[in-house]
Amino acid sequence: MSEAPNPGRAGIEQEQFLSVVSRDEAIRLFRAALVPRPLGIEHVDITELVGRVLAEDVAAGVDAPAFDRSVVDGFAARAADLAGASSAAPKRLILNNETITCGYSPELTVMPGTATPISTGGPMPRGADAIVMIEHSEPEGENAIVVQRALSPGQNMAFAGSDIACGQVLLHRGTLIGSREIGMLAAVGLASAPVWRKPRIAVISTGDELVPVGAPLRPAAVYDSNGPIVAAALEENGCTPLRFGAIPDDREQLDTALGRAMAEADGVILSGGTSKGAGDLTYRIVSQLGAPGIVVHGVALKPGKPLCLAVCEGKPVVILPGFPTSAMFTFHDIVAPVLRILAGQPEREEREIAAQLPVAVQSELGRTEFVMVALSQGEAGLVAHPVGKGSGAVTAFSQADGFIRVDALAEGLPAGARVDVRLFTPHIRVPDLVIMGSHCTGLDVIIGALVDDGISARTLAIGSLGGLSALKRGECDIAPIHLIDPASGIYNAPFLTGAMRLIPGWRRMQGLVFRRGDARFEGKTPDAAVAAALADPACIMVNRNQGAGTRTLIDQLLGGARPAGYWNQPRSHNAVAASIAQHRADWGVTIEPVAREQGLGFIPLASEHYDFAVLRAPRQPKALAAFEARLGTCGADLLRVGFEKAR
Ligand code: AMP
Ligand code: MG
Repeated sequence: MSEAPNPGRAGIEQEQFLSVVSRDEAIRLFRAALVPRPLGIEHVDITELVGRVLAEDVAAGVDAPAFDRSVVDGFAARAADLAGASSAAPKRLILNNETITCGYSPELTVMPGTATPISTGGPMPRGADAIVMIEHSEPEGENAIVVQRALSPGQNMAFAGSDIACGQVLLHRGTLIGSREIGMLAAVGLASAPVWRKPRIAVISTGDELVPVGAPLRPAAVYDSNGPIVAAALEENGCTPLRFGAIPDDREQLDTALGRAMAEADGVILSGGTSKGAGDLTYRIVSQLGAPGIVVHGVALKPGKPLCLAVCEGKPVVILPGFPTSAMFTFHDIVAPVLRILAGQPEREEREIAAQLPVAVQSELGRTEFVMVALSQGEAGLVAHPVGKGSGAVTAFSQADGFIRVDALAEGLPAGARVDVRLFTPHIRVPDLVIMGSHCTGLDVIIGALVDDGISARTLAIGSLGGLSALKRGECDIAPIHLIDPASGIYNAPFLTGAMRLIPGWRRMQGLVFRRGDARFEGKTPDAAVAAALADPACIMVNRNQGAGTRTLIDQLLGGARPAGYWNQPRSHNAVAASIAQHRADWGVTIEPVAREQGLGFIPLASEHYDFAVLRAPRQPKALAAFEARLGTCGADLLRVGFEKAR
């Protein structure tokens, strides 16, 4: 891991980050070397203009409308003929022998005492100066009408150029083009517009371990998420990504890719390999690409320290940190604003909102730290829950509404601190139900069903006890829990306060898991299986964290023994199954659906109760009622994913 403190590697790190600079200094140095400005103007067809930015003012070459026209269905007339018209004194007009429809050029002049039938949008005939609405007239015989109201000149018609006058600037340079702007261009007949050329930016992921999405994952490999993330972020910021895929940590292949990228693109964004052994390679190749070369390598940011910023032959060349979260923060904070200038895009509008931290946040002194947060509605305003699980987590991004920045000079923030949350999207999504506690795949079934009811729910996996605290503080609506009271052997109920009640959830069968065909376990009772494991010194177990319900079971099974692997204590059912499936351990305890998913052998032990703590006086009674209703009817679906409904 590039950012975890690792005393064994301290020497290497020091060598690489000789001069870590502050965030602001990094931005200043990068911009001073690049002097970013738009790349040039191109004329783009109206069919391709959405999202582009006008590089020049656009003026109308014609009037819109191009002629005087009627804006109602009725009769083109002379207002003077109708002066004083009323129900007591109606006026009669003789109809001319022509009907003006859209696209028809009138031939007859409207003489005094006459009128010509005209449709909405029809060109005004000579002589007429207003339109009688059809609703305000009565036919009289074949070729006359009677009108009972007066009309003022210009009424019910529009003059040529009244919408857009020829020569008028329609759209100013710098305008971001959307459907409304397209409408204006089209109204005056413009088939294209001058816009800033889109920067073409090469996206190169680096790492021997990377596999493209869609391909099977080989052991110890990692999907290339930075490639797709960066390419998408480039599109969001007005650039065209040139996708180079993932290149192994190999000097020759990297050289070739970078050579092509420099030739074809206006800039290059690499990711990975900035901070260790093989990574030195990327850094070294970039340092030879051209003057002035690397201007920043190492920024006092967390996540994001290994960021490397270079300018080669006038083009930005950036090496983002490998961890996707670090890559995204540094991209958005430091790289995107510069690329937007190249693209001629307006500065991105940032929205901040005040919230309160429910828990303390630790932070390293001397580094600007970004902490992702999910918002929920607390009793005294918005609450910002930190959701980052370290820079290796990708999912935090989808759960988070935004992030807070902890100043380089702060050691952290206390619980209850007021913070400004920089939002990822302009609108905060406050879900109907906030579910905080222990996560279970069965819960996804219920949440999916609620979507069909038009109810949105957000889950934050913060463990059973965390969920109960959040519920107590009024920060969530539902806390899914599976806690056993060791004294009574009763699940969940003993942990509630008087203000809470329990909605029964389902049972999760826990069992001893192993790889199918392992003779030490196959077909045995739990006790015999554990005895066989303990008797074999080569056998390695995987445990669970202290406090987990499963851990209580494991300790009972072991009866005080501490076999190899006992201190390996992951925090989830899935981690246990992965450890065994991937041969790092031979046995452990997890729940049946997870074991099944990984194709592991399973010896049932005991069923665990997964229930929902809620407040007796809920914040969202309607949504909660829908949740309970769905819980009552989705037994079969739960069974399908391996859970048995509680009664
Ligand atoms: P590195 O900076 O190359 O040492 O990578 C740091 C961590 O980020 C390693 O765990 C890498 O596997 C991971 N990583 C690097 N590049 C990518 C990528 N394109 N997608 C996902 N993870 C990556
Ligand atoms: Mg790497």
